Amino acid sequence: MDITNIHPKVTPIYQTSVFKFASLAELEEYYTTPDRGGRFGYSRSENPNTTELVAEVARLEGAASGGVATGSGLGGLLAAVLATCKAGDHVLCPEELYGGSVVLLSHEMTRLGIETSYVPLAELYDLERWIKPNTRLVLAEVLSNPLLTVLDGPRLASACQAHGIKLLIDSSFTTPMLSKPLSWGADMVWHSATKYLGGHSDVMAGVVVAATPSLGRRLHAVGTNIGTTLAPMEAWLTVRGLKTLRLRMRQHSENALAVAQFLAKHPAVAQVYYPGLTSHGGHELAREQLLNGWFGGMLSFRLQDDSAEAADRFIQRTRLFPFAPSLAGVASSVSYPLGTSHRGVPDERRQALGITPGLLRLSVGVEEVEELLEDLGQALVN
Ligand SMILES: *Cc1c(COP(=O)(O)O)cnc(C)c1O
Repeated sequence: MDITNIHPKVTPIYQTSVFKFASLAELEEYYTTPDRGGRFGYSRSENPNTTELVAEVARLEGAASGGVATGSGLGGLLAAVLATCKAGDHVLCPEELYGGSVVLLSHEMTRLGIETSYVPLAELYDLERWIKPNTRLVLAEVLSNPLLTVLDGPRLASACQAHGIKLLIDSSFTTPMLSKPLSWGADMVWHSATKYLGGHSDVMAGVVVAATPSLGRRLHAVGTNIGTTLAPMEAWLTVRGLKTLRLRMRQHSENALAVAQFLAKHPAVAQVYYPGLTSHGGHELAREQLLNGWFGGMLSFRLQDDSAEAADRFIQRTRLFPFAPSLAGVASSVSYPLGTSHRGVPDERRQALGITPGLLRLSVGVEEVEELLEDLGQALVN
């Protein structure tokens, strides 16, 4: 048997750090041909599994070729910031931004001379009020955590274009099944692939793709140069996850809508935040902008008894929503924003944001929905 002449249906895991060259001429071709002439040299720079992952995400997003896969979602943000900003530049974000992004930008990037400021999402669109001569990048999320505020993506993209500022969209909550930010005019789309792209809570990864080939190449170069590129096994797992992304997002969305409707009618629940509910402030916008009539798998709700004790009772009683402070797996989970994502946020600021002691966030999985509703019903009995 000749193992060099095998044709697997599925891309195998290329668990190798380096690739062989037959001659100096091949090496020369590798270094001098655009896109390395399709050759692989060293896995920090390119590996068939990471290349496949980036190409697949680029295809789903309608992006140019290029881009980067990183060892975590935040590695992708770092690559995107370094690809577009230098010391002395300014990044603008909504206040509702994911906590890990805030930490990277405000604690680490500031030390390198890249400053960030935050404004309420509802006011962000009036860019003239916030931008400075050195503003290079705007970062925003399609749906915010944990209250699922909805971004008006096309409006923000045209404001950024009018001022010549790059727009990076974090689409981790929505995936290309619910939103395609490049079609709005965004410059880059970023995913924590740890979440829905991987989808099984068993991999940490990030992917960033770009609207233009030059920015895609720049992202790839930065990822390679700072050494945050993804390992082959993790890329392979994420590619496997992508194969069921459409099926999963449909089921996450159907289940979450049913759960949101159930909770909205439950006497122990004061308020439900889910963009698929007509009562949600962003419902109309979500209906216009999210694809397929899907609203995703994330929702939050506040208990009538708005206390940490009541929240803890729910957490201890539920059987199908294990308390795990992440999201987007096929199996449901519950998180507690006050104690996790918004832990470091001052009390009065949390109150203003609506992050109260009785607020819980659900990541609704793809289980049989009747079983989820039954479990929620028993967990909410006082
Ligand atoms: C989890 C998450 C990230 C960060 O991704 P990691 O894979 O944890 O590094 C960024 N943005 C959002 C919206 C997330 O939920």
